[in-house]
Amino acid sequence: MLSAERDVMVRAFPEIDSGGYASAVTESGRSVTDAARVYRDLTGVLPEAANIDGDAHFDRHVLASILALASSEGGSLAARAGLTDTELGDLFSHWFLARSVESSGDHEASVVDADEIGIVRDLLLENRSSEGDYGRWLAAMIARRAMEPNHLWEDLGLRDRSELTRLIARHFAPLARRNDKNMRWKRFIYRMMCENDGFVMCSTPVCSNCADYALCYGAETGTSRVTSAAQSSATPAEQTV
Ligand code: SF4
Repeated sequence: MLSAERDVMVRAFPEIDSGGYASAVTESGRSVTDAARVYRDLTGVLPEAANIDGDAHFDRHVLASILALASSEGGSLAARAGLTDTELGDLFSHWFLARSVESSGDHEASVVDADEIGIVRDLLLENRSSEGDYGRWLAAMIARRAMEPNHLWEDLGLRDRSELTRLIARHFAPLARRNDKNMRWKRFIYRMMCENDGFVMCSTPVCSNCADYALCYGAETGTSRVTSAAQSSATPAEQTV
């Protein structure tokens, strides 16, 4: 493997760390993380109370989750969310009464590779199954959040892996159909990049012979990064979707 390729893989798949809550504050006797507070400012409810029964409710929940987590990481919200300032403004105009949210937190700026983000984004765009700006924004946001070190559903601020599976089935259906062995989503996206763009992730052509099998097909367990502190202290449910 070339050194540049190895660097890409190290950034994309460092040790999974499912911690990383934003700082907690106390509101009305209840601890609420910065990210959960932003989520509530956007939607009117804390993330654990989100109604995602319908597609529109679900789509709004996804955007609020990404923005809430990105805002808790400090720095430019647009950059953390993977959008331009204009795209972020349009997104707020279409989806939220709040026209902006304040970034908080003092995390160090991530070192991200714009070329790599572009390749992930293009792969997602090629596999869109919904019309309009939403899928385009989502492709850019997922691509940027895929540069973060945790499971992809965690770094999108979602509540569990099943929400990521649902959003990919809804907006990137061809990818959902191809992931018929239920690979971890970030690994699956990079597997697609191996096939399309010459990235090197796989040491063997056949998964059953590969030493990384558990990394690609293990359960994506973890705890939501956008949730109230009270909720986060509970034992996380086993994620098997
Ligand atoms: S298990 Fe090995 S061969 Fe299969 S996708 Fe993962 S890295 Fe590639």
